[in-house]
Amino acid sequence: MRDAHAPAEPREILRHVFGYDAFRDPQEAIVDHLVAGGDALVLMPTGGGKSLCYQIPALVRPGVGVVVSPLIALMHDQVAALRQAGVRAAALNSTLELEEVREIEASLRAGRLDLLYVAPERLLGERTLALLDEVRIALFAIDEAHCVSQWGHDFRPEYLQLAVLGERWPGVPRVALTATADEPTRREIAERLGLGDARRFVSGFDRPNIRYRVVAKRSAREQLRAFLDADHRGDAGIVYCLSRRKVEETAAWLRQQGFDALPYHAGMSAEERNLHQDAFLREEGVVIVATIAFGMGIDKPNVRFVAHLDLPKSVEAYYQETGRAGRDGLPADAWMAYGLQDVITLRQMVEGSDADDARKRLEMRKLDAMLGYCELTGCRRQTLLRYFGENPTEPCGNCDNCLEPPQVWDATEAARKALSCVWRTGQRFGAGHVIDVLMGKDSERVRGLGHDRLSTFAIGADVDVATWRSVFRQLVARGFLAVDVEGYGTLRLTEESRPVLRGEVAMSLRRDAIRGPARARSRAAPADDGMRSGPLWEALREHRRGLAASQGVPPYVIFHDATLAQMAAQCPTTLAAFADLPGVGDKKLERYGESFLAVIREHAAD
Ligand code: ADP
Ligand code: ZN
Repeated sequence: MRDAHAPAEPREILRHVFGYDAFRDPQEAIVDHLVAGGDALVLMPTGGGKSLCYQIPALVRPGVGVVVSPLIALMHDQVAALRQAGVRAAALNSTLELEEVREIEASLRAGRLDLLYVAPERLLGERTLALLDEVRIALFAIDEAHCVSQWGHDFRPEYLQLAVLGERWPGVPRVALTATADEPTRREIAERLGLGDARRFVSGFDRPNIRYRVVAKRSAREQLRAFLDADHRGDAGIVYCLSRRKVEETAAWLRQQGFDALPYHAGMSAEERNLHQDAFLREEGVVIVATIAFGMGIDKPNVRFVAHLDLPKSVEAYYQETGRAGRDGLPADAWMAYGLQDVITLRQMVEGSDADDARKRLEMRKLDAMLGYCELTGCRRQTLLRYFGENPTEPCGNCDNCLEPPQVWDATEAARKALSCVWRTGQRFGAGHVIDVLMGKDSERVRGLGHDRLSTFAIGADVDVATWRSVFRQLVARGFLAVDVEGYGTLRLTEESRPVLRGEVAMSLRRDAIRGPARARSRAAPADDGMRSGPLWEALREHRRGLAASQGVPPYVIFHDATLAQMAAQCPTTLAAFADLPGVGDKKLERYGESFLAVIREHAAD
C-alpha cells in the first residue's frame, strides 16, 4: 500500500485516498491549476465535488492546506471524513481546549498536517497568523466564499478581511469556492478577496438528480404524509415552514405519524438546536422541520427530500433550500405544496414591510418569479436554470411537469366571472366569500349582505370549489387580482384586470392535478435506486451505524450511501473487488473491508 503522505499524482490520490476512478468534469483542471500555483474562483453546484478541488492539491503540494470554513459543524465533519481516508487533518476553532490547540500547533510546526480547517475569526487572530508564518503553506481554500457578500443572507464580516491572505502570502495559491449562482455575487467575491486575476471555473448549476414537484395545496399535512409514505419512509429530509409555530406543530404531528421528526427554529435554545442538528447529521432517517434558520452549511450528503409547506420568497432561496437534497448524487425530491393563502400571505408580507419602495418593488419582482415558477406548465428545471442564466434546450424529464404534463383549460369565461364578482361585491372580500357568491351559496352571510341579489350570484355554480380556488390563486399569482395589506385577504382589481373583464384577452389556466405523480419514481431513477432497500441494504446500513456510533462520527463519514448501494448491488466477495467500489480508498479498505465482506457473506448464506 502506498504511503498517503508521499508526494503523488492527483489521479493516484483520487484513487488511493478517496477511492474514485475519475475526476468529474472541471475538477481535474482546477486541481492542475492549483498544483501549478495558480489562484482560482470555483463556482460549482452543491454536490458537484468542490472539496476534492482543494483537498487533492493540498496533498500534492508541499506544506499544509489551510481551509477557511464558516461553520464549526461543517469543519468537524470534513475533518472526520478526511481522517477516515487517512488524511492528516485538524480543525482550529473556538470549541477547543487549550491543550488541543497546543497539540495541533505542534503537529503543524512538525509538518505533520496535510489540511488545517480554521474559522475565519480564528485565522485572522495574531496567534494563528504568526503560527502560519512559521510553516510551509500548500494553499489557502476559502469555502462558502459567498459569505463575503454583504447583500447575501450568509454575510460574515470576518470574510471581508480575508484579502489579507494574498498580501501576507503572495506566493501561496488561493482558491475561493461557492455554490451561489448569480453574477453580482461572483464579482463581489473576486473583488473583495483580491481574486480579480484568479482563473474562473464555472460549472453548470443543474442538479439532475433532484426531482422538482409542486402540488396544489388542499390539506397540506395529509399531502405531505402521502408524499413521504410513497417515497420516503425512513429517509432523512427537511421540511420547511414559514413560522415557528407551524414548525413545532408540524414536527409534533409527524411524530404522531411515526416519523422521527424534530423541530428547528431561531426561537429554540442554542443547546436544543444543536441537539437536533446533531441528531439529523448522525442518525439515519431524521426529518428536520425547520424555518429557514436551518440549513446553511448542512453538508449531509444523503438528504433524500426537501419539502416546502410554505412558499419561499424567491427563486434563489428556493433553489438554495432544495439544493440541500441529494448532495450524494442519488435521486432526491424537492416537493412543495402551494396554495392561494401562500400567495396572499407573501404578497402581504412584502407590501406591508417597512422597506423603502425600491426594495419592495425588487422583492415583489422576486416573489412574482417564484409564483411564476409554481404555476408553470412547462419544464421546471428549464425555468430554474434560465433564471440563473443557463439555457438548457431540452425539457428535463425529471420534474412533475415533464413526467405528467399538466392540462391547461380555457378559463377566459371563468376568469371574467371571477373578476366581475370581485367587482360586484365591492372589492371588500376575500376569495372565500367571493367564491360563495359565485357558487350561489345559500348562507346567512351571503343573504345578509344582499349578495344573493347580485348579477354574479350563482353564475359559477357549474364549477366546483377547488377549481374556483385554483382560478383565484392563479389570478392573484399572475397579477390579475391584488391583495390588501391589512390581513384579511381582501381582493381588488388591478390595471391588468380590465382587458380580461372586457373579454379582450384569452386566459388559459393550469388544471391542478388531483394527485401528484407519486408513483412516477420508477421512470427516471438511476440503476442503483432499487438497491437502497431490502435486507442486505439494511444489514449494511446497520453495520455502518454501529461503526459510526463507536467512533462518534456520522455514518456517511464511514461510507456514503452511494458506496453502500454499490456494495449491495455488486456483492463483492474479495478485498480486491471491494477496493473497486466507488468511495473505497486504501485506508477504508484496510479498516472496513473485511467486516463489510463478512456482512455480505452472512447475507449470502441466508
Ligand atoms: P460540494 O462541496 O460541491 O457540495 P462535495 O465535495 O461534498 O460537494 O462532493 C459531493 C459528493 O460527490 C461527495 O459524496 C463526494 O465524495 C462525491 N465526489 C466528489 N468528486 C467525485 C468524483 N470525482 N467521483 C465520484 N464521486 C465524487
Ligand atoms: Zn422538466
